[in-house]
Amino acid sequence: MSNYKKKIIVVEDKSIVSHDLKRRLEILGYEVPDIASSGEKAVELAREHKPDLVLMDIQLEGEMDGIDAANIIKDEMDIPVIYLTAFTDEATLKRAMITEPYAYIVKPFEPRELQISIEIALYKHEMESELEEKTDFLDLILKNTEEGIFVLDDDFNYVYINEASGRIMAHDPKEWVGKRAGTHVHPEDAGIGMAALQELYEKGKADFVARV
Ligand code: MN
Repeated sequence: MSNYKKKIIVVEDKSIVSHDLKRRLEILGYEVPDIASSGEKAVELAREHKPDLVLMDIQLEGEMDGIDAANIIKDEMDIPVIYLTAFTDEATLKRAMITEPYAYIVKPFEPRELQISIEIALYKHEMESELEEKTDFLDLILKNTEEGIFVLDDDFNYVYINEASGRIMAHDPKEWVGKRAGTHVHPEDAGIGMAALQELYEKGKADFVARV
């Protein structure tokens, strides 16, 4: 992890509470560039400051509550949100969970609990971002290579087929997923296809020519 101070936006409608939170977070070594008392302001501040995390109360000033704001912040900016609220009723909890928060802390809370939740959220989000980057990179390679690449499950059904495979086999690869390997091989060449699959399975490589 890098050494720069992680930025946290505090969203809370009671100014005594929000200023106390800001102070506590700063003591813990975080930067709190601003405080929002409404959902609308929370979205605005998230866009402006691009924080590493948002600490979100649920009942706020204005039309938009914390859950609505969290939804926008997650979808638009991919910033992790931790709810910090007195609300624990079933309906609120259900609505909140849909926004995939990194934690849900119920007031009153222990300062240590808050710090641990923040650190876990920051770490988890960083890991997820790294994984996403790697996956995007792999997708790009698989999409652009001239090699036909496909993945079969244990029952020889296609799980993944790249675009080059589609070109080689003269079929739309999207139609294959879930279908059994060999479905598109010419019936008279089915034996060649199955032998090639067997060889592929054993050696990880097979050269063969079959009609489709
Ligand atoms: Mn509130």
